[in-house]
Amino acid sequence: MFECSICMDEHLVDDVALVEKCGHKFCRECMTDYIGSKLTENRFPILCPVCQAESDVQDAGFIQRGLVDQLALSQAQYDSWIDLELSQYSVMLDCRKCQSSGFVDSEDYKELQYIYCPLGDCDHVWCKACGQTVGPDQESQKLHSCDGENELNALMEAEGWKNCPGCKTPIERIIGCNHMACGTPGCNMHFCYKCGDSIIRSVLKDEIKGAVNAHFHQTTGKCPLFFIPAEDEGTS
Ligand SMILES: [Zn+2]
Ligand SMILES: [Zn+2]
Ligand SMILES: [Zn+2]
Ligand SMILES: [Zn+2]
Ligand SMILES: [Zn+2]
Ligand SMILES: [Zn+2]
Ligand SMILES: [Zn+2]
Repeated sequence: MFECSICMDEHLVDDVALVEKCGHKFCRECMTDYIGSKLTENRFPILCPVCQAESDVQDAGFIQRGLVDQLALSQAQYDSWIDLELSQYSVMLDCRKCQSSGFVDSEDYKELQYIYCPLGDCDHVWCKACGQTVGPDQESQKLHSCDGENELNALMEAEGWKNCPGCKTPIERIIGCNHMACGTPGCNMHFCYKCGDSIIRSVLKDEIKGAVNAHFHQTTGKCPLFFIPAEDEGTS
């Protein structure tokens, strides 16, 4: 015989609902009612009724699935238990592409930076932080930045663009010459495509010419003027 901590009646041991961690005992009827009321409040995890009443319990007991399985919960109650349990240990994902949702383990989710659609045959991958779609391969994931800066840089790299060192505007290189002149009004920056250095900020033709010639001077300059060195124009 034991005393139920809710109704204070003596019950046969067969009727015990034992909360494992704290060892508090209840009759199954009281425990079923108690869990039922917590479930309607969507409370989860559910504390042992005695431990909950004692506000400073260090090792408070929680109702575990094993105990629930011994009780005569209604199907609706049991379903809502499973839902709450699942939502505690897992995170629901919604895929924009296939419109499906699925669960991943919440511990795994914490570690993830990129989310793969939980549906097997969907190839959608997205960034956990910003939700933007990324490629399924590591290369494109490494490239991803939530503000799009890495992507822009990579595009610039691929397209042969360079930021103007004066105004930071991306400039496309059209001809094979490493001398770049920024077209942004008021910037007037001349810079080197090869090293990215600014050469001169000026509107005076002679001044520009002098600085550009110095940077690209054949022997004393820092960089060659042409991307692919010009073939034999009296240099050999
Ligand atoms: Zn009882
Ligand atoms: Zn307890
Ligand atoms: Zn999907
Ligand atoms: Zn992102
Ligand atoms: Zn500029
Ligand atoms: Zn030029
Ligand atoms: Zn240079």
